[in-house]
Amino acid sequence: MRNYLLLFILVAGYSVQAQISDPKATEFYEPVPPKVKPGAQLGEAPEDAIILLGSGADASEWVSSSSGGDAEWNTEGDALVVKPGAGNISTRRKFGDMQLHVEWRSPNEPGKEGQGRGNSGIFLQDRYEVQVLESEGSDTYTNGQAGSIYKQTPPLVNALKPMGDWQSYDIIYTAPRFNADGILIRPAYVTLLMNGVVVQNNFEIKGPTEYIGLPHYVAHGDDVITLQDHSNEVAYRNIWVREL
Ligand code: MG
Repeated sequence: MRNYLLLFILVAGYSVQAQISDPKATEFYEPVPPKVKPGAQLGEAPEDAIILLGSGADASEWVSSSSGGDAEWNTEGDALVVKPGAGNISTRRKFGDMQLHVEWRSPNEPGKEGQGRGNSGIFLQDRYEVQVLESEGSDTYTNGQAGSIYKQTPPLVNALKPMGDWQSYDIIYTAPRFNADGILIRPAYVTLLMNGVVVQNNFEIKGPTEYIGLPHYVAHGDDVITLQDHSNEVAYRNIWVREL
């Protein structure tokens, strides 16, 4: 019976293919993709991006994650710098699927090692951490180095520039989907380019980032982007997002 079914599918498929003789049958003219003016240089925000951190390090798009009040990190030119002890900061806006551009720079911290050196992170939807770490010449677990999805998977390669240089992350994120009962119907996926090099290729996120134990999804909707205060003076600049 199964063989007859397979034969039927093959013959039916062949006959559909045989009927298409006009190349126009597979050419579409609607919908027309909207025009978007790209940034003048790679890494520059395109015209349809929401600027989360632009020139002058205007932090008006950010709040303290714990209090909801003003983000109290330090500014240095166009950079917003972690103020140890001030706590995480989060966007005022909430996001789902997105393209996110972030630039960051490690501080020089002689004597600090592993997870204690240049540690910060970008929490997508306040839950899923793309790790920021000064990972050159320092021992730590690979699924905790820069470009890892923290404690879930290491980066495919280490494409970091030398410490003190600005690093760029381009993140393409597909949010998880839950049904009305809060059951996961599709996990989150993330692609990450570190300095233009793919280091995460559509990785299936296992659940919210956990320091101890295994991750488990809990239903949620659109949510904020959070930057981590891990007591290291990591600098951020040129952050923009496009909703997908
Ligand atoms: Mg971190």
